Amino acid sequence: MSTPNGASRASLPSAEGSTAAPSTHLDPALVHRWIAEMDRRLRASEARLTELDAAIGDADHGANMTRGARAALSAIGDQEGASAARLVSAVGHALSRSVGGASGPLYGTWFTALGRSLPPDAPAAPGDLAQALVAALDAVQQLGAAEVGDKTMVDALAPASRRATDAAGSGADLAGMLRLAVGAAEDGALATVPLQARRGRASYLGARSIGHQDPGATSAAIVLDALRTAAGA
Ligand SMILES: [Mg+2]
Repeated sequence: MSTPNGASRASLPSAEGSTAAPSTHLDPALVHRWIAEMDRRLRASEARLTELDAAIGDADHGANMTRGARAALSAIGDQEGASAARLVSAVGHALSRSVGGASGPLYGTWFTALGRSLPPDAPAAPGDLAQALVAALDAVQQLGAAEVGDKTMVDALAPASRRATDAAGSGADLAGMLRLAVGAAEDGALATVPLQARRGRASYLGARSIGHQDPGATSAAIVLDALRTAAGA
């Protein structure tokens, strides 16, 4: 097969496997890859999340997130033919049902609102996903009443949503948008270290919460980075 400029496609990397072209839309196949990657990444990070939560919480965040990811993966495993929006909502319901503590309802709400805000029956373009990320952040903030700087998952999700919106608005493709959003989420998680917690269990520690990275902001950056990896970005 020849491309318009006459070069042979055989000389290009295979479109299969790890050299596949990045995803352009959030479609059902990408949601399945995202949640599988989220499960893998959270299990790989379980000890670190436990350690972070042991410092300023009750040491259950690693176990909670791995249990939730496993439940989410199993919940969408048999949803043949479901839209991306429906799959993402199913992930939210599975997390709400299976995860204890504050993180279950918060992540459950985030995924449920994300799914509700995606195009119901069509793959989501970058702008659709950015809009849904903003709606999901709003839902989490309504439930948890946390603002940026309170040392919570919002410190990762808010800058990521803002960066995604800016990127989509300037015409970025999905891969470019996700790389920027993940960078913002990771910077936001790191920026929680010097903060004093004002929400959640860590706030009971007062000034002693200073100097530790927030486990919720850390897991939120992992959840978004799993999507970036799944999208091949
Ligand atoms: Mg905890």
